[in-house]
Amino acid sequence: MIASNVMELAIVSFLGLAIGSFLNVVIHRMPRQESIISPGSRCPNCGTALRWFDNVPVLSYAMLGGRCRGCGTGISIRYPIVELITAGVFIWHYLVFGWTPLLAVRLLFAASLVALFAIDLEHHLLPDRITLPGIGIGLVASLFLPPGIAGALIGMLVGGGVLWLIGEAYYRYSGEEGLGGGDVKMLGMIGAFLGWKLVLLTMMLSSVAGSVIGIAVIAWHRGGLKRALPFGTFLALAALAASLYGERIVTWYAGRLG
Ligand SMILES: [Zn+2]
Repeated sequence: MIASNVMELAIVSFLGLAIGSFLNVVIHRMPRQESIISPGSRCPNCGTALRWFDNVPVLSYAMLGGRCRGCGTGISIRYPIVELITAGVFIWHYLVFGWTPLLAVRLLFAASLVALFAIDLEHHLLPDRITLPGIGIGLVASLFLPPGIAGALIGMLVGGGVLWLIGEAYYRYSGEEGLGGGDVKMLGMIGAFLGWKLVLLTMMLSSVAGSVIGIAVIAWHRGGLKRALPFGTFLALAALAASLYGERIVTWYAGRLG
């Protein structure tokens, strides 16, 4: 029993590092409209192709001292950080969901959120190439697993629809675009994976986190940073929390209502 748990934990950890390594490619190339399949990994500066032993998550970065073997240019610390965070997020999910079919779905969901977080943070962009397939996969998985297809469909519509309405109202009121279409599709994806209850929870958590951090930043810098904190990053963090603990939070809340 214990031995099999250790084995599962090891598999999830290595899977997290490997997927994190792949996410680095996605995070770097997708906003630049480059293929994520070919060519293989290269140094962004000199184009030296990475050999397989340069491409071991975290370890290669440490062994090469964070520099390209070809030209010596520093490689962004983002690479090992994304790998470690992905592994950490994967392990966390394993501890919550155990070795279940739902774990596989939620790992895929979490990996998409890590990519969306990083791309939105750097480029203020939430690529359709992640969110639209994400909506499809979330709905198909919900045919067999929680939240169930009805919850997922309502979740997609509630998630996408509510944000679209807020954005539209803000646009009518202020004449400027408040929320991008990317946020709408991302919330549609979150709803498709988590269902309507947890997508509402995600919205609540992300707006609270966004307001608290936004107010702190504005107070610190005296404004002018309206676009400094993309909403998608808060959505990603809130959706991860909702995926892991949303069911418990909703049950607890419902219990308090009696
Ligand atoms: Zn190089």
